[in-house]
Amino acid sequence: MATKRDYYEVLGVAKGATDDEIKKAYRKLSKKYHPDINKEADAEDKFKEISEAYEVLSDAQKRAAYDQYGHAGTDPNFGAGAGGFGGGFSGFSGGSGFGGFEDIFDSFFGGGGSSRRQDPTAPRQGADLQYSMKLKFEDAIFGVEKEIKYQREDVCQTCHGNGAKPGTQPEVCHKCHGSGTINVERNTPLGRVVSRQACDVCHGTGKEIKEPCPTCHGSGHVDQTHTVKVNVPAGVEDGQQMRLSGQGAAGANGGPYGDLYVVFYVEESDIFDRDGAEIFYEMPISFVQAALGDEVEVPTVHGKVKLKIPAGTQTGTTFRLKGKGAPRLRGGSYGDQQVKVKLMTPKNLSDKQREALRSFAEAGGDKVNEQGEEGFFDKVFGKKKK
Ligand code: ZN
Ligand code: ZN
Repeated sequence: MATKRDYYEVLGVAKGATDDEIKKAYRKLSKKYHPDINKEADAEDKFKEISEAYEVLSDAQKRAAYDQYGHAGTDPNFGAGAGGFGGGFSGFSGGSGFGGFEDIFDSFFGGGGSSRRQDPTAPRQGADLQYSMKLKFEDAIFGVEKEIKYQREDVCQTCHGNGAKPGTQPEVCHKCHGSGTINVERNTPLGRVVSRQACDVCHGTGKEIKEPCPTCHGSGHVDQTHTVKVNVPAGVEDGQQMRLSGQGAAGANGGPYGDLYVVFYVEESDIFDRDGAEIFYEMPISFVQAALGDEVEVPTVHGKVKLKIPAGTQTGTTFRLKGKGAPRLRGGSYGDQQVKVKLMTPKNLSDKQREALRSFAEAGGDKVNEQGEEGFFDKVFGKKKK
């Protein structure tokens, strides 16, 4: 195929030529090269070339398409190696062989680029689903097996997903002949464009069901309550999620199921705080225990554990109980429990206790201006109502 000449060049006009200029140029040239008048060997080809150029440039829409895309914008045979002029824009209808043309228009009209190329009858994986699971504080630490129920799109068991009434089979779609796509003509600012769309008869499946399955009405899928056993691993944390492969929605065209994402919501504990594998516990002790030292029992998620409080322990001191935390999801080892000591000041003292404390202060050489149960601020600003 010879290289196509520029239409403006063919008519001998400038790119910005007016309609009138184009018309005049065409009249002049068509007379000159009309095969009835001109007997030169190439007159007929020239005449065709001129007519073609005029057909495009005299039509505002075609001219706009030509200005933007060149010959590819107006000539259905461009790039196909067929040569000749097939009747302009309207001649572009279905079939194959015009390569780049469709791409240009699909990207121009948002036709979807690569997705258009996807075979709509190809198997596709089903949708992923999400399930929120509430967990007790301890269950998140030690793991638990739970049975969950949720709605999901499932393969219809009556027709096994093909959508046809038992005893019948889906047939090849009469409209798209099984391709799942049809060519649709649209009017656009650049003229009529043919685009490929999902077939409206078979909805892209390429199959036509004459007698639909009574259970799923031909869709091949049914919405069903699905039950799954979930083994919650020990050590999961609030907000973490777990993927259960194949527990999502059924796929299309016999494709695999999607996945289920189980998101964990871990309840708080009244006693403990947790950060990953570490567990935090605040332990109240008396100042006597703190001063003299003691051995106490500390609650942990693993049961009670003995802890030695050394004499002279200050409030806020943290002790570490090795391996008494939550398990690490990876590696199988356990975190620690951190025990933070909180010194409790005794209240509502008996006379005997008061006496003992005075002696205690004296023994240490301290002078105490006793204020009773009312504090300093109560005296200054007036006692609050109780
Ligand atoms: Zn179809
Ligand atoms: Zn069915």
